[in-house]
Amino acid sequence: MSGATSFLTRWLRPSIDSFLRLFYPEVCQFCFQNKALHEDGYICNFCKKKTDPIESPLCKVCGNMFPGDFAGLKSFICETCRSAPPCFDWARAAVQTGNLPLQAIYKYKYGGCLWVEPWLGELLIDCAAKWITYADWDMIIPVPLHPSKKKKRGFNQAERLGKILSLHTGVALNTELVHRVKNTPTQTRLSPEERINNLKDAFKIFSTQSLSGKRILVVDDVLTTGATCSEVARVLKKEEAEFVCVLTICRGTILMRSGETIQK
Ligand SMILES: [Zn+2]
Ligand SMILES: [Zn+2]
Repeated sequence: MSGATSFLTRWLRPSIDSFLRLFYPEVCQFCFQNKALHEDGYICNFCKKKTDPIESPLCKVCGNMFPGDFAGLKSFICETCRSAPPCFDWARAAVQTGNLPLQAIYKYKYGGCLWVEPWLGELLIDCAAKWITYADWDMIIPVPLHPSKKKKRGFNQAERLGKILSLHTGVALNTELVHRVKNTPTQTRLSPEERINNLKDAFKIFSTQSLSGKRILVVDDVLTTGATCSEVARVLKKEEAEFVCVLTICRGTILMRSGETIQK
């Protein structure tokens, strides 16, 4: 962080916090019972514990958990990754897809509730700390949104999360390298094969910079089938990136939206 930035942060932070307190009382916005501060993402410690961590045994490629069937094994390669290997080298997430993290991500993405961001950032940093050595990476690339979608939403959640990870790890954030050039319809209710077709030619590299030998971390909020991150990894590897891995907040298959069950 530059001197100017840290100066601004130091002096503006208390003012921003006081301003936010006018709108958000210091109470958990999930249980509305326990105390929670802005820096906690307005979630109390009790609610934080309602998330399920990612634990072994898990697929060493896609990071999906397979409890029970592979008891005794720390990691293995699942059938899906063996039959159709993704283009990324591996993917890891902070927590399993569950009601509370999905509720938080849904509020964040679609409700513009940026107050939950400190908690999501904390989950991503904890996940990264578990799986990577920061010095080994050349850049962080957030999964890009199509410009029209970004304009409508006002921000790209993956970009904001990637920035938090970059500030914490010192690994450079690059938001200009990969662009989403096709405004793909939502992936909801598409089969894995349909998702791959849906994403065809969706991403493009906009750079003359050589990616030869680069080690890249792709960041997104949720990983389900992994089709989107795999397509981002494919265009990066086409430009000779050596190693492309994925970090997300959630890992799972189902998202809940407005009371209905959908897939991302
Ligand atoms: Zn709570
Ligand atoms: Zn797998």
